[in-house]
Amino acid sequence: MSKKQSALQIIHTLRSHGFQAYFVGGCVRDLLLKKNPKDFDVATDARPARIAKIFPRTIPVGAKFGVMIVVVDGENFEVAAFRADKGYKDGRHPAGVRFTDAREDALRRDFTVNGLFYDPVEKRVLDWVDGQKDLKKKVLRAIGDPSKRFNEDKLRMLRAVRFASVLGFKIEPKTFRAVKKLNKKIHEVSHERIRDELIKMFTGPHPGTALTLLDRSGLLKEVLPEVEKMKGVAQPKAFHPEGDVFVHTRLLLEQLKSPALVLVFACLLHDIGKPDTYRRSDRIRFNGHDRVGARIAERILERLRFPNDTKDQIVACVEGHMRFKDVKQMRESTLKKFLQRVTFETELAQHRIDCLASHGDLSNWHFLKRKVKTLTQEQIKPKPLLSGRDILALGYPEGPLIGRILRAVEEAQLEDELSSKEEALAWVKKKGFK
Ligand code: ATP
Ligand code: MG
Repeated sequence: MSKKQSALQIIHTLRSHGFQAYFVGGCVRDLLLKKNPKDFDVATDARPARIAKIFPRTIPVGAKFGVMIVVVDGENFEVAAFRADKGYKDGRHPAGVRFTDAREDALRRDFTVNGLFYDPVEKRVLDWVDGQKDLKKKVLRAIGDPSKRFNEDKLRMLRAVRFASVLGFKIEPKTFRAVKKLNKKIHEVSHERIRDELIKMFTGPHPGTALTLLDRSGLLKEVLPEVEKMKGVAQPKAFHPEGDVFVHTRLLLEQLKSPALVLVFACLLHDIGKPDTYRRSDRIRFNGHDRVGARIAERILERLRFPNDTKDQIVACVEGHMRFKDVKQMRESTLKKFLQRVTFETELAQHRIDCLASHGDLSNWHFLKRKVKTLTQEQIKPKPLLSGRDILALGYPEGPLIGRILRAVEEAQLEDELSSKEEALAWVKKKGFK
């Protein structure tokens, strides 16, 4: 059964018990935009206790707030009672809810295009917020007074940027002015929620627009001040005819469409070390900006509570991005180690758009593409010829020397100088490591 069919079944079941039930929110918006909804949320006048009685499998995730999960066919569906929020306590969460009717439930929602209900039985849209008009005009507009709505819940400011960029909508001027006025209050929102919104906007179909809107709304300075700092940092014209570091970064993002998370953050942060390393000598230089940038990227991603493995991969991309200029001069073993990196494919994609967003010279990229084609996985990362035990058996004492010998053997193997265990043993003996 498709998700939509399961959701329809929930609606039919609720109706057969005498309740109202509609599709609501993002799924209605996406259905009207002829996009595939991620989730199908249901709104009803049944209260959580009744929902729990009607359906065999429910999870009371937010029963106090009227929200239940109904499990159908192994999928979770949010089934929520019509509700209105009772004031806001901490700039983010309602102090409580009051059960009400469908219209009032529409009015508490954030944007008009998110405030639509759909009756799948009558095939009718219920629209108390003029959401259909805004969907047609591609406008993202707060429901009610924008400043009041953003003051209730500051996360909505980032949601505005997220929906506008993901959907390719314009933010209605009054709504946008309210974000500009209130952007400093975004700090009332937790780092985790900020991170989730950033991830959604940057992995959407228009990450460049997301960056532009963050910038114009003033939210960039609050949530990613390090990125803001790249604005106005001049670069040498010969390598960067396109402009300053921020413009260059935006051009990278504009080339991406629904990118992987590591790739887009690696692009966003690859030159984050430039503002701090800017020097004018013979020309503008940013010596060490890759290493400095890696540390800054690490701090940003820790602040935003990124999972460690994601953070490590992004940081590796930032730290390694200048090595591409040397690939043609690398020794075979160094090059193979470069190709072995977990993040290599991501870095290669990043390097390509980095070039396209500046001088346009793709010769190193082509060189690597050809190299990858001519080598097998076994040639790039061959099985080790010797183990620590083999070295001990040769009479070497335990200690750091063993590791050094193994690395030297690996190096020679990657240089295609050694290809069997016997050759490797003879080579070690002849070298006489000390
Ligand atoms: P997505 O496709 O990203 O899931 P969505 O519109 O479904 O988009 P959700 O965060 O899943 O967004 O929320 C579901 C609905 O709940 C929204 O469409 C909106 O009507 C309402 N909503 C969610 N968060 C808020 C909020 N912070 N303030 C007001 N209404 C909200
Ligand atoms: Mg949703």
